[in-house]
Amino acid sequence: MHPLPVLPDGRLEQRFSESKPAYSQAEAVTEANRCLYCVDAPCIKACPTGIDIPTFIHKISTGNTTGAARTIFKDNVLGASCARVCPVETLCAGACVYNAWEREPIAIGRLQRFATEATLEQRPLSSLLPAKKPATGKKVAIIGAGPASIAAAGLLALEGHQAVLFERKEIPGGLNTLGIAPYKQSGNAALAEIQAVFGLGDIQLMTGVEVVAGQGGDGKVSAESLLKDFDAVFLGLGLGADSKLGVTGEQGAGVWGAVELIERIKADPTLTLAGVKRALVIGGGNTAIDVAHELKLLGIDEVAMVYRRGASAMSGYAHELASARKHGVRLIEHRAVSEFQRDAAGKVVGAKFSRTENGKPVEGGEETLSCELVALAIGQATATQVATAFTGVALDKHGNVVVDPTTHRTGNAKVWSGGDCVNGGKEVVNAVQEAKIAVRDMLRALRSEVTHG
Ligand SMILES: Cc1cc2nc3c(=O)[nH]c(=O)nc-3n(C[C@H](O)[C@H](O)[C@H](O)COP(=O)(O)OP(=O)(O)OC[C@H]3O[C@@H](n4cnc5c(N)ncnc54)[C@H](O)[C@@H]3O)c2cc1C
Ligand code: SF4
Repeated sequence: MHPLPVLPDGRLEQRFSESKPAYSQAEAVTEANRCLYCVDAPCIKACPTGIDIPTFIHKISTGNTTGAARTIFKDNVLGASCARVCPVETLCAGACVYNAWEREPIAIGRLQRFATEATLEQRPLSSLLPAKKPATGKKVAIIGAGPASIAAAGLLALEGHQAVLFERKEIPGGLNTLGIAPYKQSGNAALAEIQAVFGLGDIQLMTGVEVVAGQGGDGKVSAESLLKDFDAVFLGLGLGADSKLGVTGEQGAGVWGAVELIERIKADPTLTLAGVKRALVIGGGNTAIDVAHELKLLGIDEVAMVYRRGASAMSGYAHELASARKHGVRLIEHRAVSEFQRDAAGKVVGAKFSRTENGKPVEGGEETLSCELVALAIGQATATQVATAFTGVALDKHGNVVVDPTTHRTGNAKVWSGGDCVNGGKEVVNAVQEAKIAVRDMLRALRSEVTHG
């Protein structure tokens, strides 16, 4: 297995500092000692992967950091990423009993980060999980190399199966490498975790290879050939390109899709934001908040999020919005963009907005805001069309892959799926859990094939 790529120096991502820096051992033990080790702990129920949180916290408090890491990785093979990127405020820490007494909840994410990072610095991930089983000779094709797929590959490898990942980009990790806000996790930290998972067994990664319907060749592999050549398939396709508004002036330099801009901030050393003093972000979800927050932290003088409804209707997390606003991001509510304005040279110079009521533009009250950069964060298209090339796999009316929620098996008995392409866009931890469910069922199916095949 060749080492994975490392993102080059000179990226804007490298200018960020961490919003929740790593604990020292003394800090971790002090925080761990606050935990009440609740019976029927609500924090466990709030974790999509069901990590035994009081147990790992107790192990930290007794100095058994390695044991704590074992407890975490047993339920979540991407426990290091999740420690840094999970919205703990709405998951485990949000459910901590301390909230009911209006006291600071236990910093579960930071404790998890301490246990996983401190341990992985000393020993490989494979030494923290059950020993790899002997090779079965079975191979599974995994489409995409985002967190759903990486988790599935790791779990399959531990069972002695070969996992072959096909990733259309050159850099693996999906949005966990290329989308997460840099103040939470750097792209290289995500890549280091993938490297650790690859040490669990027989995992092959093919980058720059897109799985397509129809003919393969020249960086493309046909879905049909995978069905034929592999014992099982896992679809971890994630979401597709940033959605567009379809208004005048949108096409051309200066108007970015938010996910595309974030990817460039994280991975592209040639990106500069020279000359940008005012940026507008269109949208009210977490991606809008993230990109606005990132642009502000990169030193852009004025960053405004423009949302067509009021703050209370925003789908983005309140704690993330509060943090972005604390750093100077302005929120403009009840406005919808009707046009982007460009100068004679084609440079973006402003955007025209209408006032809205109930999210819909109303007559009068038009205004123009000047800007040199726009980020559109109004959603992402689906990337699931290729899934239908696997006979029997269906999409729902939103374009998400349809699975049996108890097994994550699709309408094709050889194909499973999980992550954003199934749930429509949640969190890394949901992608991991869905991969776990799929792999559990896949293992049963592969075993019965071994027995009866
Ligand atoms: C800006 C942004 C910030 C986020 N921040 C957080 C956060 O702080 N915390 C958190 O928990 N979650 C966050 N998320 C969500 C999280 O990143 C996703 O839920 C998670 O990455 C989903 O994993 P996945 O494997 O399903 O998909 P992805 O991460 O999207 O990976 C899918 C992969 O499949 C590849 N692919 C797709 N089609 C093909 C094909 N036909 N052939 C080959 N390869 C293909 C893609 O290139 C991609 O690499 C964020 C998302 C965004 C957009
Ligand atoms: S709910 Fe809070 S105090 Fe109780 S076990 Fe979980 S982290 Fe500890």
